[in-house]
Amino acid sequence: MKAGPADPVSPTKARPMVLLQIHEPGAPPLPHAGDRPPAVGIDLGTTNSVVAVSRDGKPEVLRGQTGMALVPSVVAYPPDSGPLVGLAARAVLLDRPEWVVSSVKRLMGRGAGDLKTLAGALPYELDAAPGPGGGMVRLKVGERRLSPVEVSADILRALKALAETKLGGAVERAVITVPAYFDDAARAATKDAAKLAGLDVLRLVNEPTAAALAYGLDKGSEGIYAVYDLGGGTFDVSILRMAKGVFQVLATGGDSALGGDDFDHALAESFLAERHARTGANTLTTGEAKLALATARIAKECLSGADDGEWLLDAGVQPTAHRMTRRGFEDLIRPLVERTARICREVRDDADLKPADVQGVVLVGGSTRVPLVRRAGAQVFGREPLADIDPDEVVAVGAALQ
Ligand code: ADP
Ligand code: MG
Repeated sequence: MKAGPADPVSPTKARPMVLLQIHEPGAPPLPHAGDRPPAVGIDLGTTNSVVAVSRDGKPEVLRGQTGMALVPSVVAYPPDSGPLVGLAARAVLLDRPEWVVSSVKRLMGRGAGDLKTLAGALPYELDAAPGPGGGMVRLKVGERRLSPVEVSADILRALKALAETKLGGAVERAVITVPAYFDDAARAATKDAAKLAGLDVLRLVNEPTAAALAYGLDKGSEGIYAVYDLGGGTFDVSILRMAKGVFQVLATGGDSALGGDDFDHALAESFLAERHARTGANTLTTGEAKLALATARIAKECLSGADDGEWLLDAGVQPTAHRMTRRGFEDLIRPLVERTARICREVRDDADLKPADVQGVVLVGGSTRVPLVRRAGAQVFGREPLADIDPDEVVAVGAALQ
């Protein structure tokens, strides 16, 4: 990987050349500040990432060719080509899972000493030998050994390229969001990834703060707000205090192993149990398990809008069809949703707050589209949640505004 063109002026050698360029007749004029392309806001998520821009104070989410703003935070490293990012990488996952890296955000800033707790919880192998960079965890991807920073940089490069295509110019500056609980090492790793991708980080902003900014809570009345964020693999809740336009994080909590993926698992298991009862086939290939999960994810997302539906599990010699109602699905995931509510109450207690102290709640993350989750978020804080902005885009919107 080549180093990014971060700083072309080396203090010893290049300075006279710069002067020379300025005085050279016919040289292109140096850009002045007003001509600089806009900075972008990036939500670098565990499951999905989003890039947005703010022009004249109006945020705009940048979408790819298919109209999708979400870029899956997945990178494939085929041995004979450059990395593939997003949907293209997710497509490789079915055939060659060993080339594909996902959920790399969980490894940001983690040392080799964290290997024991991490290994097994991740869908890829980690390298036990300490890397040259001083003990940072590294991933085994085919023959390659990659640091989480390098993989993150590949995701950021893809987002930068998307923004450059949409904005028609070079994009070199970004505000990037990170979870409120990220420690210094994880924040430094995020900055390193940006630098490697050729992005100058103007600021790292906490994800819940970005969500609150997207709703303009910094302009409204002073008070205390909760941000309930249920994504693909993680749950985070934060309590923010807004005073004089500045947010302070009062308390955070969550579960780094609880998210929409668990809803997929619960539904897939129900489909597979039904399939077993009907066909007698109780062995399951890895391919069938993956297909069951993919089908469950589609069914789950449908059931956020529809009351019921039927899905075909087209696996093995005998495809089976499975009906599910929203009620039935809610029964499957209720214990998981109740866990999020319990964590919310604990965090509120940690911050020494009474239920009535929390003035509003913001819903973030794709999984808050599930009606049961939305109701739980509302109920636990006793407030009608703010959810007008697309929950997968709200963090990027806030980053762009910042
Ligand atoms: P992250 O913050 O972890 O990157 P996201 O906020 O993008 O993740 O959330 C991804 C999760 O949201 C996935 O589990 C996905 O299935 C889920 N999701 C997206 N749309 C819906 C929907 N309409 N109904 C239910 N879940 C959804
Ligand atoms: Mg997120």
